[in-house]
Amino acid sequence: MIPFDFAYYKPASAGEAVYLFHDLQVQGKNPFYYGGGTEIISFSRLHQLYPQAVIDVKDIPECRVLEYQGDTLVMGAAVTLSQIQESNFYPLLSWCGGRVADHTIRDKITLGGNICARIPYREAILALLVADCQVVIEGKDGTKREPLDKMFDRTLQLEPGDLLVQVSVNKQHTNLPFYSSKRTTDGKVAYPQDRVGYPLISSAFVKDNGHVRAAFSGLCAFPFRSFELENVLCDRGAPLGERLDRIMGLLPGQIVNDMEGSGDYREFLFRNTVREALGQLEGVEYVC
Ligand SMILES: Cc1cc2nc3c(=O)[nH]c(=O)nc-3n(C[C@H](O)[C@H](O)[C@H](O)COP(=O)(O)OP(=O)(O)OC[C@H]3O[C@@H](n4cnc5c(N)ncnc54)[C@H](O)[C@@H]3O)c2cc1C
Repeated sequence: MIPFDFAYYKPASAGEAVYLFHDLQVQGKNPFYYGGGTEIISFSRLHQLYPQAVIDVKDIPECRVLEYQGDTLVMGAAVTLSQIQESNFYPLLSWCGGRVADHTIRDKITLGGNICARIPYREAILALLVADCQVVIEGKDGTKREPLDKMFDRTLQLEPGDLLVQVSVNKQHTNLPFYSSKRTTDGKVAYPQDRVGYPLISSAFVKDNGHVRAAFSGLCAFPFRSFELENVLCDRGAPLGERLDRIMGLLPGQIVNDMEGSGDYREFLFRNTVREALGQLEGVEYVC
């Protein structure tokens, strides 16, 4: 329950949603796009958010698409993590999204809501960052399609009122060999069927033509993929321990150090995650 009154809108098109957003903003209503509502409701309950209007995007047809269009997998922002997991069109995304919260909550959480959420984890983005995908955004000036890596820097770089409409991934990227893991406070790996908490480290790796791509959440205060880090990861001439030491100097932010897990413990889990991922993708047993 949201403990205050607010107006509720359910537009039938992306253009109408954006128009409504700006109109409501001019009226001082502090509008929010509403996907699954799990974050909006949680933060409103805690009095950390006061939307006077929400714009539910679940009736927008483009936001509900989940299908292959030719060789491209198109996923609407209002598709739920459960729908993505059940379709299994993109197994790595099924894994990353399938370890968020529990099944009941994943029936509500949308892909767009997870990507645009305030929480630092946003685990669904990991599978997208390593896939060179495209995002479709509806804004004041119309519709634009951009590569995700151009639009994502710690968060999706949206202008106020921009609506994430779709994410698309080339089929070739959905079939790459992958490794993914989520480690929570007990350090164990969590599987999609588990009821899991927020991650200390969540990761997604793919191997494409010998090159390993990797994205992480939980290590720093935001999810990230780093090309510099990947280049060191793939420098097979150097022992893995040495590569890991170099990587620690290339992280894009400080390692999170909080009550859930110390920075040292997160670093330990991170090193283990990389060792396991490379071992599995390269068929080698690495001992650090
Ligand atoms: C018990 C619990 C456990 C959880 N555990 C995890 C976890 O381990 N890992 C993890 O990653 N997440 C986890 N989550 C999910 C996360 O905390 C967010 O609640 C969720 O991702 C929000 O998705 P939503 O669809 O409900 O978004 P909403 O609450 O509807 O929206 C979230 C934000 O995104 C914006 N937004 C929504 N859709 C769009 C769009 N199409 N375009 C632009 N902006 C948009 C909204 O305006 C709002 O600011 C958990 C949630 C719960 C309740």
